[in-house]
Amino acid sequence: MRCTVLTVSRSQGIGSGLTYDPGNLSVKPGSFVQVPLRNKIVDGIVLDVLQDHEKEEYDVKSIKEIFGESPLLTESQIKTVRWMADYYCCTVRAALSVWLPSPPWAALLPKVVTLWKLSNTKSIDQIKGKKQIAVLEFLESSDAVTAATIQEETGATLTTLKTLEERGFVSQIKKREEVDQTLPSIKITEPTLTELQQNAYDSIRSQQLPSLLFGITGSGKTEVYAKLIADTIREGKQAILLVPEILLTENCIDRFRRLLNAERIAVVHSKLTPTERREIWKNIHRGAISLVIGSRSALFASLQHLGLVILDEEHEWTYKNEQTPRYHARETAEALCRFSKARLVLGSATPSLESWSRAKAGLYHLARLPERYKNQPLPSVRIIDLADVSFGQLYPFSPPLIKAMEERLERKEQSVLFLNRRGIATALLCLNCRRRVVSPESQLPFTVHERRDGSQILVDHSTGLTAQAPSMCPHCKSPNLRAVGAGTQRIEHIVAKLFPKARILRADSDTLTKPEEMRELLDTMKRGDADILLGTQSVVKGLDLPNVTLAAVVLADVGLSLPHFRAGERVFQLLTQLVGRSGRSKPGEVIIQTFRPEAEEILRASRHEVEPYLEQELRLRLHTGYPPAVSMIRYIVRGNQPKHDAEALAASILLKAKDQNQSHVKVSFGPTLMSGGKEWHVLVRGLRKGFLDIPLEGKQIVTDVDPLDCI
Ligand code: ADP
Ligand code: ZN
Repeated sequence: MRCTVLTVSRSQGIGSGLTYDPGNLSVKPGSFVQVPLRNKIVDGIVLDVLQDHEKEEYDVKSIKEIFGESPLLTESQIKTVRWMADYYCCTVRAALSVWLPSPPWAALLPKVVTLWKLSNTKSIDQIKGKKQIAVLEFLESSDAVTAATIQEETGATLTTLKTLEERGFVSQIKKREEVDQTLPSIKITEPTLTELQQNAYDSIRSQQLPSLLFGITGSGKTEVYAKLIADTIREGKQAILLVPEILLTENCIDRFRRLLNAERIAVVHSKLTPTERREIWKNIHRGAISLVIGSRSALFASLQHLGLVILDEEHEWTYKNEQTPRYHARETAEALCRFSKARLVLGSATPSLESWSRAKAGLYHLARLPERYKNQPLPSVRIIDLADVSFGQLYPFSPPLIKAMEERLERKEQSVLFLNRRGIATALLCLNCRRRVVSPESQLPFTVHERRDGSQILVDHSTGLTAQAPSMCPHCKSPNLRAVGAGTQRIEHIVAKLFPKARILRADSDTLTKPEEMRELLDTMKRGDADILLGTQSVVKGLDLPNVTLAAVVLADVGLSLPHFRAGERVFQLLTQLVGRSGRSKPGEVIIQTFRPEAEEILRASRHEVEPYLEQELRLRLHTGYPPAVSMIRYIVRGNQPKHDAEALAASILLKAKDQNQSHVKVSFGPTLMSGGKEWHVLVRGLRKGFLDIPLEGKQIVTDVDPLDCI
C-alpha cells in the first residue's frame, strides 16, 4: 500500500504531497500523521491511499505515526481540497490551508490524559498506610482512572499515587480523551411556512440538483432556510449557513437561536483568534454542533455529517476570496456538496448572472418566492435627477428628499440613508454631457481632492498623475462641472444641521467593528430610539427594520463609471437590495438620487424588474463575450518588470491560442487600478479550461480564475 502525504513544511516543489508507505497503520484520506522528511519528523495529512502500486525505483519511507481516532478531514473534504487546487490553479497545500486552523495540528486532537491502574496485586499485605490500601482496593475493582477520580473516591492525593508507583504497585498510562461522536436528539422549534414558502420548500426538497431560491426582498427566504435546516438536523446531519458579512450575521443568528438550542450553533468568521478557531474546530469536529453560521470561510468547518449548505445573498462579492487560494464559496460549495451528497441552496433577491444562467440552462433548480410576506407591497420608488437640482450648501440633498425626511420625523417613522462607500473619492462630472473628466493616461475618472486652501486638484490613482481641475468640460466645453460623491461624515454633518432635533445613528466601518456593535445599533432602531440611520451600503443593505418607511440612496452613481463589465450588475443588485429595506411592515417609499436617471440599472431597479434585467444583461454578456457567457482568467503580474512580463505573457497566450485554432480567445492587459503601475494584469476570455499551459515559474504571477474584480 502507498499513500500521498502533504507535509506541513513549506519546502518548495512538494506542494502536492509525497509518497509514503503506511505499513500496517490504518490510514485514511484526511488522517493526521507524522512522517520522516530530510532527517526530521514532520506533521502531515494523508491525501489519498492507493491499494495497488507499481514497484518504485526509489526508496519509499514509512509513515511513523498516526494520530486521532478519526481523520482531521473527511474524504469528501479532501476531494474538495484537490478540486480547489485543480480548478483555481494553486497548490494542494494552498488549498488545504483554508480547511485547518494553523499548525500545530496536534492542538486539534483530543487532550491526552494520564490514567492510573494496578500493576501488582500479590503483595498487597506489605502495605501499611490506610490511604494506600484504600487506593489499591479501589483500583482492584475499576479500570484505569484519572488521579482526580481516585482522589474523589478515596481522598488519596497524587503524592500517595507516586509512592505506590515507586514501590511498583500502580503504574501510569497516557491516553487520548475519548470523544462521543453520536449526535444527541435535538429539540427543534418547527417553522411555520406560508403557502408560497411551502411550495418553494417542497420543490427544493424534491430535487437532487442545487437550488436557486429566487425570492424578492421580504419574501421570507430565511424561513425556508430554517425549515431546510430543521429537516437536516432531524435526519441526524449538520448544516452550514453562509452569509456575506460578519456584521450582518448578528441580524439572522437570532432567528436560528429560536430554531434550536444556541449551544448547538457555532458562529465562525475571520476575526476569531487562533485559540478560538481551534476550540470551535474541535467542538464542531466532535459533533457538538448542528449548525454553522458564518462568512465564506465557514464552508471549511469541520463537520463530519454535512447534509446542507445554504449561501444567503449568493450574489454578494464577499464570497470570493481575494488571496490564494482565490476560491469562490459558491463553486466550492457546489463541489463540496457533490462529494458529500449534501444539498446546496443559493438564495437571493438579485441572483448573480452566473447562477441565473445555470438555472436557465437547467443546471440549477429554480425555486421562486414572488411575493413579500403577508403580501406587503413593494415600496414606491422616485428617481431624482440631481443635474436638475440647484444645490446650495445642502449638496447632495435635494428638496424632495429633505421633505420626505421631514415627513418621517413628523410621523415618528424611521428613515435610512445609504451613502457611498466610506472615504470613496469624488469624481468631476459634467452636468451637461454627463461625462466624467478622465485621466489621459489610464482613461479612468480622475479623483477630486481638496487642497488646504480649498482649491481642487485631480489625481489619477492608478498612475499617480495629477492635474489642475479644468474650468470647462473637455468633451462639450460646458462650464457646468461638479465634484460628485458624498462621504458618511459630511452627510452626517448636513443631516444634523437640517434636523437638529433628530436622533441620528451612523453605521460604517469606522463606527462598527464588532458584531455586538451592530446588534446594539439594530436594537436602538427597533426600540425606536433613533430617527435616521446613515450607513454605508454594505452595512445597511440586509436590514429588516419594521418602522423604516423611507429608504434613500443619496448618490446612486458609484461604480457606474468604472470600466468594469460587472459594474451595472453591481449597481442593480445594490439598488434592489436597498429598495427592499423600506416598507417591510408599513407602506414605504424609496428615493434614488442620481446623475444618470436613464441608466438601465437604475430604471429597472426602481420598477422592481429583476428578471427582465437579468435576461437583458445575460444577452449583453453573450453578445460581448463576457462571463458567464465565457470563462475568464486573470493573471496578476508583480515583480520588478510587471509591464514587460505582462506583455510577454499576453503574447505567449495569444500565440498558443492561435496554435490551437482558438481564435475566439481574447487577451487584454494593462496596469491595475490602484497599483500606480506596480502591478499589471492580463485578462483572458474564452479559454477552455486546461488548454493553457504557460510556464509561470520564476515570475511573480498570480492566477485568478473567475475573477470578480478586474480593474
Ligand atoms: P428575505 O430574507 O427574503 O428578505 P426575511 O426572511 O427577512 O425575508 O422575511 C421578512 C420578514 O417577514 C421577517 O421579519 C420575517 O420574520 C417575516 N416572515 C417571513 N415569513 C414568515 C413566516 N412564515 N412566519 C412568520 N414570519 C415570517
Ligand atoms: Zn460635458
